[in-house]
Amino acid sequence: MHEVSIAQSLIELIRRYVPAHCRLLRATVRIGPMHALEPEAMRLAWTIATTEVGWAGAKLDIESPPWRLRCAACGRCWAPGRVDEACTCGCTNVEIMGGDEFQLDSIEVDTPVVPDRQKRVTSNRTRLHNTETGARHEHQSSNC
Ligand SMILES: [Zn+2]
Repeated sequence: MHEVSIAQSLIELIRRYVPAHCRLLRATVRIGPMHALEPEAMRLAWTIATTEVGWAGAKLDIESPPWRLRCAACGRCWAPGRVDEACTCGCTNVEIMGGDEFQLDSIEVDTPVVPDRQKRVTSNRTRLHNTETGARHEHQSSNC
């Protein structure tokens, strides 16, 4: 079940951005279809991984960008229904341009619980955007 290692990689990554004594509330990630995540397995792996680091209950939003194909003959770029789709020009020599994205998009953290009131502070949220984590195909959008 490779979802376990994906969840652990995400936790490792997220930990770098969560301030000390803060708890993760929600993480939004972009994971391409090439990683072939099984949603139920991913949810379970995430629950286990977050509980291990004391972030039980943290939400995970996964955005899955579509496959992108590019035709070697005419240069057309498109999001196919199937990854082995041929180009409309009849050419079957197409290359995969995307689908292996693995990117942390944003996180929300909570400040530590105030001991005497047990009140959650919701105003102190940190958001972070587009942290690149090996998004090797970022240049592709301009071509398409
Ligand atoms: Zn073509």
